[in-house]
Amino acid sequence: MVTTTRVFNFAAGPAVLPLPVLEEAQRDLVALPGVGMSVLEISHRSKAFEAIIGECEANMRKLAGIPDNYHVLFLQGGATTQFSMVPMNLLPAGSWADYIVTGAWSSKAVKEAKKVGAVNVAFDNKAENYLRIPKKEELKLTPGAAYVHITTNETIHGVEFHQLPDFGDATVVADTSSHMFSRPIDVTKYGLIYAGAQKNIGPAGATIVIVRDDLVKKAAERPSYANLPVMLQYGTHVPEKSLYNTPPCFTIYTIGLVMKWLVAIGGLEAIDKINGRKAGKLYAEIDRTGFYRGHAAKDCRSRMNVTFRLPNEELEAKFVKESKAAGLDGLKGHRSVGGLRASIYNAFPEEGVDVLVSFMQAFEKKNG
Ligand SMILES: *Cc1c(COP(=O)(O)O)cnc(C)c1O
Repeated sequence: MVTTTRVFNFAAGPAVLPLPVLEEAQRDLVALPGVGMSVLEISHRSKAFEAIIGECEANMRKLAGIPDNYHVLFLQGGATTQFSMVPMNLLPAGSWADYIVTGAWSSKAVKEAKKVGAVNVAFDNKAENYLRIPKKEELKLTPGAAYVHITTNETIHGVEFHQLPDFGDATVVADTSSHMFSRPIDVTKYGLIYAGAQKNIGPAGATIVIVRDDLVKKAAERPSYANLPVMLQYGTHVPEKSLYNTPPCFTIYTIGLVMKWLVAIGGLEAIDKINGRKAGKLYAEIDRTGFYRGHAAKDCRSRMNVTFRLPNEELEAKFVKESKAAGLDGLKGHRSVGGLRASIYNAFPEEGVDVLVSFMQAFEKKNG
C-alpha cells in the first residue's frame, strides 16, 4: 500500500500548498458545486471559470491593496519568460535598464535582458557568492534608465530585500517569485511585479504579473511593439483579462483557493507575523552554537528560503539523508550554494519548523 501520510515538504518549488486547499480541490475535483463538471473539464470561456478567475483576482487585489490603475495578469512561460517579456515591452531602443544582481535568478534576468537591449548592471555580488543585498553607496544606478530590475527574494542563495531601496521616481520592476504575498506590499512603489506561482502562490503553470496601466499603454505606442509575438505583448492580455488563449485553468483555480485561504487566516499582516516567527525560530537555532552557519548576511536573510551549512560536506549529506528518513523532505541545498536549504513558504506549517529545529538539535548532539 502506498503511504498517504504527508511529510514536511521543504522544497523550493513547486512547493507545499495549504492542506485545506488540497482538501477542497480534492473534494470538488469530480464536480464543481453547482456546475456538475470538473474544473479540469470546463471551458475557460464558461461563466463558471470567469467567476473563478474573477474571484481570484478580486482576492489578490484585496489582500495586497492593488490599485485600479494596475492590471493583474495570469500568464504562462514562468517567471523565466518575464526575463524576456519585461525588456521586450519596457526597454525601448536607445534606452537602457538598471539591473541589481543579488543571486542566481537576477543573474539570469540580466542575461535575457541583454539579448533584447542595453543593460547597466548596477550591482553584482557574484564575487561573494551572493550573500547580501547592496549597501546604498554600492548601487550604481543611472538616472533616466527605462526601469530598475530587482529580485526581491533570491530563492537559491536565500537573500531577501526586507525593504525596497529608495529608487526615487524610477520605474521599479521586481521579480518576487519566491515571496509574493508573504508580507504586506505597497504596490504603488512598483511599475511591474511578477512571480512564478509555484513557489508561494499555488501550483506550477501560471505567472502572476501586476503591471501599471501607463506602462502597458506606453509600450504599445512604440513602432517596434507591433513586431513582438502576440503572446509576449502585455497589451494582448490586458483587454482579454488573461483569456486571449487557453490559460492554465486548474492552476488558476488552485491559486484562487490559496488566496481564499490567505484571506481567511487574516491576510498579509497575519501571514507576515507567522512567517517572521517561523524564520526567527530557524535562524535562532542556526546561530545557537556555531555548528550550523547561515549563508546569507544576517540583515538580508530570507524568511522564505533559509540557506545554511554544516561543518563539512559529509555531515551535510548525512543530515539530508537522516532528515529525509525522519519525514523532513527537500532540505538539500542548491549545488551553487551547497549545504542545506529549508524553504518555509506561507503554506509551510509552523509545526514543521519546530520539528526541524528539534531534529537539528539532536543531530548536533550526535555529530557536533
Ligand atoms: C523559480 C524562480 C524563477 C524561475 O521561475 P520559472 O517559473 O520556473 O520560470 C525566477 N525567479 C525567481 C526568484 C525564482 O525563484
